[in-house]
Amino acid sequence: MKGEIHLARYLSDFDMQSMECMKFDTVIIGGGLAGLFCALKLPKDMKIAVLCKGKAEDCDSYLAQGGIAASIGDDDRTLHMRDTVTAGCGVNNREAVEILVNSSEEAITDLLRLGVPFDRNADGTFKRSLEGNHSIKRILHVDGDATGKGIMTSLLADCAKCGNIKLLEDTFAIDLATDDGKCIGVISQRKSGKLFLSAVNCVMAMGGIGQLFPATTNSTVLTGDGVAMAGRAGAKLSSLEYIQFHPTALYMPEKEERVFLISEAVRGEGAVLRNKNGERFMPYYDSRLELAPRDIVARAIYDQMLKTGSPCVYLDITAKSRNFLEKRFPTIFGECLKHGIDISKDLIPVAPCEHYFMGGITTDSHGHTNIENLYAAGECASTGVHGANRLASNSLLEAVVFGGRVANDISGRTVSHAPRKMLRFSQARKGRLKNVDWLREHLRRIMMDNAGIIRSEKKLCSALQEIEDVQKREIDDALLCTEKDFETADMYETARLIVQAAANNRHSIGSHYITD
Ligand SMILES: Cc1cc2nc3c(=O)[nH]c(=O)nc-3n(C[C@H](O)[C@H](O)[C@H](O)COP(=O)(O)OP(=O)(O)OC[C@H]3O[C@@H](n4cnc5c(N)ncnc54)[C@H](O)[C@@H]3O)c2cc1C
Repeated sequence: MKGEIHLARYLSDFDMQSMECMKFDTVIIGGGLAGLFCALKLPKDMKIAVLCKGKAEDCDSYLAQGGIAASIGDDDRTLHMRDTVTAGCGVNNREAVEILVNSSEEAITDLLRLGVPFDRNADGTFKRSLEGNHSIKRILHVDGDATGKGIMTSLLADCAKCGNIKLLEDTFAIDLATDDGKCIGVISQRKSGKLFLSAVNCVMAMGGIGQLFPATTNSTVLTGDGVAMAGRAGAKLSSLEYIQFHPTALYMPEKEERVFLISEAVRGEGAVLRNKNGERFMPYYDSRLELAPRDIVARAIYDQMLKTGSPCVYLDITAKSRNFLEKRFPTIFGECLKHGIDISKDLIPVAPCEHYFMGGITTDSHGHTNIENLYAAGECASTGVHGANRLASNSLLEAVVFGGRVANDISGRTVSHAPRKMLRFSQARKGRLKNVDWLREHLRRIMMDNAGIIRSEKKLCSALQEIEDVQKREIDDALLCTEKDFETADMYETARLIVQAAANNRHSIGSHYITD
């Protein structure tokens, strides 16, 4: 493979002497579930900043629908671990899986303590649902299919009550500042200009990479900045080729910034998949039918779309009553109705799209990266817990369990602020970055055509070449000023790393499926 890309250590010039500076004990980049839970678990006498690129609600945690997997009581633990590893095709990190599952009951207790109102039956027990590759019903939810909103609303209210947590919205993290191999803070940009956040510990909780693809369920803020930023700082990255395509996103012919998800919980309640001729097709692909792991169902749908020459297939939940569906899936029912689809009578057009990133910044089971004082948690981290394909509803759990473990580790450290050094960085640049909208669309097309559900080494190698050419020609020497400029540079760099990892892995496994 080629590999002669020469990226600058920092995306943008800075001089700490002339920048606005703020000092914290811990800076957490990302205010989704992983970041907020970590902040709330840290000691109350610690000064903490939580950065959000947009508003606090702009994150995937807020969008989560189906729920959070949890093994309550000892009986289910072995089964939950087995389901996680079979979905992940056996390449999961077993220690991380054990930690995830064994900590799940405590995670739910913590969320209850923080005020999360999980749905309950009349006798007070939790309502539990089923999703793909789960052997039993173990998924807890809030307001039917609005789990993320329910959890995040409670946690944001808790954060607002904590005087030690400063939520910095509309604050774009550009780069990690490192000195002598240690992370010393974050260079960021706000409307008022550049801001340096100095910190004893930094935590990356920057979510997924969905916006590298033309169709994704992910929030528009998720452009893969974390992976690119960590890479520039020298952090190890792993499993980057494993990207999950959700089988059932609502198909709409017109292009949308974010595609609406039809939760797997709908299949858990009995929905079946039909092709454009009305034929149920999953029996031809897997004995687990519609509840096979996501990579298998996504490939089956893709195959049917090609065979029938249709841009979508259909999800059929018409066997359930309107009354049941309105109560069980209020968000999905309402959104489909907005598009003229009454899911109690009509078939729902669906197609696979990018949904979740299994790879990311390599961490151990406490969230340590290879850079001193730098941690990562949540979707941007790679603990290896999901292997080559994430089990449904394990990612909210991961955000709580590993976000919490980062907080515990930081709480146990006695590192204090190092004497401040005034770093500066500058590099000759040729002129402003141009054609940003075109560059982003061009990259998304490259990713969909070459690094999507079905890949080939040949196509991955030519995609890598194309991405590197654009980086050299348009981005590397350009002056980046706006957030959109920084995002675009990060998108190309993260895409390059993903495509390179995919081209280097010649084995089809889970979500990484190659034909040659
Ligand atoms: C539609 C949808 C439904 C889902 N349903 C479920 C479900 O039911 N169950 C389940 O387990 N999982 C589900 N998932 C996956 C799950 O929601 C995510 O994996 C999880 O919430 C990720 O949490 P996080 O804290 O790591 O990241 P996020 O919640 O995405 O938060 C990322 C944070 O990083 C910040 N950020 C990013 N870049 C920068 C930057 N450069 N500067 C500053 N801040 C930055 C963002 O502003 C944001 O605050 C779903 C995902 C989607 C998209």
